[in-house]
Amino acid sequence: MRGQSIAAAVIETFLPASCALCEAPLPAGARGLCPSCWAGVVPDASPRCPRCGAPWADGPATVCPACAEAPPPQEATAVWGEYDGVLRRAILLAKHGGHDELVRPMGRRLAALVAGQPWTQPIDAVVPVPSHPFHRLRRGWVVAEGLAREVACGLGRPFVQGLRRQGLRRQAGRTRAVRRRLPGRAFTGSARLRGRRILLIDDVMTTGTTLRRAATAARAAGARAIRCAVLAAAPEPRRLP
Ligand SMILES: [Zn+2]
Ligand SMILES: [Zn+2]
Repeated sequence: MRGQSIAAAVIETFLPASCALCEAPLPAGARGLCPSCWAGVVPDASPRCPRCGAPWADGPATVCPACAEAPPPQEATAVWGEYDGVLRRAILLAKHGGHDELVRPMGRRLAALVAGQPWTQPIDAVVPVPSHPFHRLRRGWVVAEGLAREVACGLGRPFVQGLRRQGLRRQAGRTRAVRRRLPGRAFTGSARLRGRRILLIDDVMTTGTTLRRAATAARAAGARAIRCAVLAAAPEPRRLP
């Protein structure tokens, strides 16, 4: 409802609703996707490195070569789906199209993934990776935060706003190669993370650099165990919108 006028809310209640993706009719007052579009939002079961979440043929039995050589600060990374197809379109609608009603159902899917991980039990706090301040102003709704609230609720663990973003350089639209060259200190962790076993939540993982920086900041703030869960991971190197 945030950012909407009362008039818009009234129109939405009385006009026939339609699916945000295919425009199929929805029950009166409903928002979001129709059942057949939700059926296209599917998890990705392909093998991934248990530590960094990158595609890796021997996962989850062993870590990928990159993690074997230089382990990232997080102990584990779980990925729900591929950032492609209907899932990608749904995330973009939630991020930029004002369809914040899509966040809770996606968050429930992520919560179910986390609940099935071997490391689920010792989690003291669910922490969103904060989005860029410019995005915050423009969107009014922050997808990673909504997902983290839903996961926290699903696991019965506290939601903690434990990281703050620094700097003003935008990541969206940059290629992987450019992202890797960006300066390293993108987040600061709050004292609320000290001594806690945390679960970091983000909506989209492209190179994994953002997640690694968030985990590094959480570690520097004294978090004693860091696991990550992301809703969608980019399938291949490319320029993302
Ligand atoms: Zn639809
Ligand atoms: Zn790895």
